Amino acid sequence: MKIFETIEEMGHEQVLFCHGQNPNIKAIIAIHDTGLGPAMGATRMLPYVNEAAALKDVLRLSRGMTYKAACANIPVGGGKAVIIANPEEKSDELFEAYGRFIESLNGRFITGQDVNITPQDVCTIRRQTSHVVGTSEKSGGPAPITAKGVLLGIKAAVNFRLQNQGLDGLKVAVQGLGNVGGNLCKYLHEHGVDLYVTDVSSEKAELVASLYGAKVVAPDEIYGLDVDVFAPCALGGILNSDTIPLIKAPIVAGAANNQLESEQLHSQALKSKGILYCPDYVINGGGLINVYNEMIGYDETKAFQQLNNIYDTLLEIFAIAQSAEITTYEASRHLAQERINKAKSLKTKE
Ligand code: NAD
Repeated sequence: MKIFETIEEMGHEQVLFCHGQNPNIKAIIAIHDTGLGPAMGATRMLPYVNEAAALKDVLRLSRGMTYKAACANIPVGGGKAVIIANPEEKSDELFEAYGRFIESLNGRFITGQDVNITPQDVCTIRRQTSHVVGTSEKSGGPAPITAKGVLLGIKAAVNFRLQNQGLDGLKVAVQGLGNVGGNLCKYLHEHGVDLYVTDVSSEKAELVASLYGAKVVAPDEIYGLDVDVFAPCALGGILNSDTIPLIKAPIVAGAANNQLESEQLHSQALKSKGILYCPDYVINGGGLINVYNEMIGYDETKAFQQLNNIYDTLLEIFAIAQSAEITTYEASRHLAQERINKAKSLKTKE
């Protein structure tokens, strides 16, 4: 990979390669854009097949964080970090060394937990730097607020696509009944929605069926249901050339990260089928809103006010997509870039 060519094309400000021998550490911190504020992004630990794969992951994810924060109207920029290691190689020394690298950035990068990083690991990193988030229990974790954000997103999509103000009597299919999906089912049930659900865990599916009267279907049946909304809340990559032809719902709106297997190809495939897709990083922005509010001193009222932005931002994205005849995915990128450019031009004038 031609590194400077790639980061120029993707718009990264800085990429820090962190290396140490005692303890042995290899990590990459990517700062995509600090136009709106310090770069924020969680750290993941994975034994990548090679260094190029780690670099590709961190560059893509950090850019995604920039757009996510801009769409959530949160004054932070986009960043991400990867520690190239097997989680079995975890040690206090490794996380402390990693913490010193974060501290060297003097607040330009703020991190938290992602794949294979536990709250305990974040506490170890915190011994060397204060630029970490997500160890506080004040908000009760990000899943309930993420689910509330998804509910707002579904309302916006139903309003735009079905010209329906409420959700009462609508049919929604939820894939994945974990922390977010389970909470989402609760909120949808409170709004009078008929639920169709699936999970690879039959225990979770039965629980949601008994709590909210949901109808349980097999995991591969969830795509083809005759419902108003399909809400993916399990895995990434589930909107692909195999599943999109099966989808009958006019709206796809769910919490899962990286739902589109190929962002360009599959967002276009959804548009061609007349399906309104809520870009995942916009509709699931509640998690970031939660972390940001923990950072500035958690205030539930403020956090929920910010969450309402998800509804308005999605309506704006749908309108841009419709008038410019582009996908909602492209429209979300345009909107995010516009907000970042505006913030930068205001800063230059100051
Ligand atoms: P989770 O692990 O608690 O739940 C995921 C659920 O999906 C599990 O119950 C699992 O059994 C089920 N599942 C896995 N494979 C499945 C399949 N093939 N078919 C049906 N069900 C399947 O995770 P979560 O915290 O609820 O997050 C769900 C998604 O939302 C993830 O993609 C996550 O990255 C994203 N997300 C979560 C948050 C948050 O606040 N937790 C924030 C933003 C985005």
